[in-house]
Amino acid sequence: MPLKEYKKKRDFRKTPEPGNSTMPKKREGLIYVIQKHEASHLHFDLRLEEGGILKSWALPKLPPQAEGVRRLAVETEDHPLGYEEFEGIIPEGEYGAGKVEVWDQGTYLPQETDPGKRIVEIKGRKLWGRYGLIKLKAKNPEDKNWLFFKLKSPL
Ligand code: MN
Repeated sequence: MPLKEYKKKRDFRKTPEPGNSTMPKKREGLIYVIQKHEASHLHFDLRLEEGGILKSWALPKLPPQAEGVRRLAVETEDHPLGYEEFEGIIPEGEYGAGKVEVWDQGTYLPQETDPGKRIVEIKGRKLWGRYGLIKLKAKNPEDKNWLFFKLKSPL
């Protein structure tokens, strides 16, 4: 039940966020989006379409646009398809209260998909090229820290 955690955290009578997946528009490639989220701490939510949901990571710092910058990316709960279009204000008192806006969007092509690793080719406006996501060794099962970085382009 991939969206169980997503739904459990939210009261859809109060938050304007989508409750269920919507059918994606026809497009080439899979959904890629980064949403800027001004919650209690400003962060950037990276989401990649995978098997009918949006895999999600929260980046406490600006996403890397150049090689050589490694950013912490904390894995968060899967989000429904359609969330990539969401912009708005999550009300005070609700999970993730604050403003959400799309910071970058486009498509991506998976090049390697392993439980603790992704190599993707991102085609966004701000992020473009090959990117890696590597899960860091966990001390406890709750640790969900990954690194997100731009790879050298094969050109
Ligand atoms: Mn967030």
